[in-house]
Amino acid sequence: MAKKTHIDKTRCTACGVCNAIAPDYFDWDDDGLMVEIQSEVAAEDEELVEEAVESCPAQAISLK
Ligand code: SF4
Repeated sequence: MAKKTHIDKTRCTACGVCNAIAPDYFDWDDDGLMVEIQSEVAAEDEELVEEAVESCPAQAISLK
């Protein structure tokens, strides 16, 4: 089963690190908040999304 991303909005500072690493998965919405563009992670993108999770300075992204 595909893993899914989730951004904890109470922790996210909208810094943009996750977007820089995995722009197909994370982007700002019209209010300037970071959102999941697609929550289901394709198998071939798992490493990239894991890098985004590990690089988030606020530890706001979960991947399950
Ligand atoms: S890297 Fe973390 S804190 Fe920064 S925008 Fe992404 S989810 Fe938010």
